[in-house]
Amino acid sequence: MSRRILITGGAGFLGSHLCDRYHSDGWDVICMDNLVTGSESNIAHLFGKERFSFIKHDVTNFIIVKGDLDLILHFASPASPIDYLEMPIQTLKVGSLGTHKALGLAKAKNAKFVLASTSEVYGDPLEHPQKESYWGNVNPTGSRGVYDEAKRFAEAMTMAYHRYHGIPTGIVRIFNTYGSRMRLRDGRALPTFFRQALQNQPLTVFGDGSQTRSFTYVDDLVEGIVRLAESDETEPVNLGNPQEVTILEFAREILDLTDSNSEIVFEDLPEGDPQIRQPDISKAQKLLNWYPEVDRREGLSRTMDYFKEQLGKL
Ligand code: NAD
Ligand code: UDP
Repeated sequence: MSRRILITGGAGFLGSHLCDRYHSDGWDVICMDNLVTGSESNIAHLFGKERFSFIKHDVTNFIIVKGDLDLILHFASPASPIDYLEMPIQTLKVGSLGTHKALGLAKAKNAKFVLASTSEVYGDPLEHPQKESYWGNVNPTGSRGVYDEAKRFAEAMTMAYHRYHGIPTGIVRIFNTYGSRMRLRDGRALPTFFRQALQNQPLTVFGDGSQTRSFTYVDDLVEGIVRLAESDETEPVNLGNPQEVTILEFAREILDLTDSNSEIVFEDLPEGDPQIRQPDISKAQKLLNWYPEVDRREGLSRTMDYFKEQLGKL
């Protein structure tokens, strides 16, 4: 019998790649999503296949799944700054109530539970690179607080279920990840820069572009999540590519890759935008024998075709 997995947020960018991976590994995959930021088009190729089902449901409400479950990956949550700033209350609810419901289901089914947490729990970090032992620098009442605090609460709730109810859990702190199925207009730097560059519009760099990020290719992330879910580690684990870049340099890389004549324009830095971000992944390396294999140049060129297709330029 196949093992059964529930992926909440499974119609989103990361969730749909996880549906693909677990399905092709032979699992019985249940994708649950309310489609608030995800889309059926991300999983359309799985419809009608054996061992795949889709349930449209808001996970902040009681979750019903028939039959046994071996693993729950809780990925439901708006994730891009534009999305969570537009949906502050849904974001807080899915991180709190939604995580509680998904953990309750894990307990009822005796299933392992893995939470998609984020590098945002470190806020605007005062430690660099960020290790899992760092507690973060988050403004709870700032506009980004709705996302950061929801995820911090979700981590606390996950550890409480583990400690109090003894259910097997894992927490993955995901750093900026990219690849196909990102929405062109989700407001994140990477799809925005690709869209602007491919349409010969100015690239909008916020602030002076000296802030840094470390971008991970989606296949590397998925591999890390699969390994974490198979491990016994219950404390948070960073997954990300430590190759750090300033946002200005990153914009230039995309101009170069797309052979675009667009100029770069500077706009105001959003409130609470972290200045630096780079994962320390020594824990994942040691524990999971995991290290990202796709460097940025390679990952970006793989992703460029997807964006060209979206813009009707292939
Ligand atoms: P996404 O917006 O593409 O996917 C999120 C999915 O969750 C969407 O399909 C959305 O419809 C669904 N969803 C939201 N609220 C829901 C609810 N109440 N009930 C059911 N479904 C709901 O975003 P993504 O980039 O794929 O992110 C997936 C997860 O990974 C999120 O939890 C996010 O916080 C986390 N994460 C992502 C990144 C990244 O770089 N992409 C980084 C850190 C953490
Ligand atoms: N950013 C930018 N121009 C854009 C969108 C984003 O310069 O059009 C900046 C943003 O201010 C941040 C960085 O790029 O400093 C990464 O932003 P993103 O939204 O991709 O991820 P996050 O801030 O959540 O790490």
